Amino acid sequence: IQREGFATVPGVTWADVGALNEIKDELHFAITLPIQQPERFKALGLNAATGVLLYGPPGCGKTLVAKAIANDCGANFISIKGPELLNKYVGESERSVRQLFTRARAASPCVLFFDELDALAPRRGGDSGNAASERVVNQLLTEMDGTDERSQVYLIATTNRPDIIDPALLRPGRLDKLLYVPLPKGPERVSIMETCLQKVPVQPGLDWRSTLASDACAGFSGADIAALVRECAVAALKSDSLAVGESHLKTALENTHPSVSRSDEQLY
Ligand code: ATP
Repeated sequence: IQREGFATVPGVTWADVGALNEIKDELHFAITLPIQQPERFKALGLNAATGVLLYGPPGCGKTLVAKAIANDCGANFISIKGPELLNKYVGESERSVRQLFTRARAASPCVLFFDELDALAPRRGGDSGNAASERVVNQLLTEMDGTDERSQVYLIATTNRPDIIDPALLRPGRLDKLLYVPLPKGPERVSIMETCLQKVPVQPGLDWRSTLASDACAGFSGADIAALVRECAVAALKSDSLAVGESHLKTALENTHPSVSRSDEQLY
């Protein structure tokens, strides 16, 4: 069970993550290596990254890779949704931010995961900003600057809108590594489907690979592919079948549509 704001080691592994090989490599260098072989970093005079910002359209695996990296290096994982930290009582949100970092340091090595950072830390002084979020951004900056590599706390934040995040958070020593997590293309959709089908029996001869690679699934996010697999399984169940076959895939495709609209795609 995952409780917001409390440390656990996540159950998600790299085997559950399809595609995204470059992201996996980058996170390996940014987080796994410094935790597992800090002496190699030190020998080359390298500082470990403080934080990574994953950005891109919804449902493409940002949360999934953050959990998998924590699992991979045996680190604790503390997850918090941006909007949940924004408390209307004066001073409450800053205190929550402070508490989170204290908890993360006590649970180190630890990945501190901020989902929907844009809600928490919009550009200060802008139209969308307000006094509460200004104070939160200032507190975040203070905590990030106080988090050096000896504390072994690694920040991963996500957003669908990197353009509205306060730029001070993205300076060196803070969330200084920006990684784009894109909508999957044909072969990547196949790879994601493979991970989603791990526990789902498929009838021999069902050629789901060419369907996934084709235009029939253009624009599908990872989350849409996971939904497609669920629809396949439901269709199989309804027809009293023990495995997913051609007709089930066809039915599932009729019920599943890309969740990121074409116009939203321009945003990323
Ligand atoms: P949001 O921006 O909405 O928070 P996200 O990018 O964090 O989205 P995830 O929560 O990681 O998206 O993905 C949602 C679900 O979609 C996952 O639980 C998983 O079932 C499926 N999924 C997404 N991307 C992948 C992937 N690369 N490999 C396997 N499954 C994926």
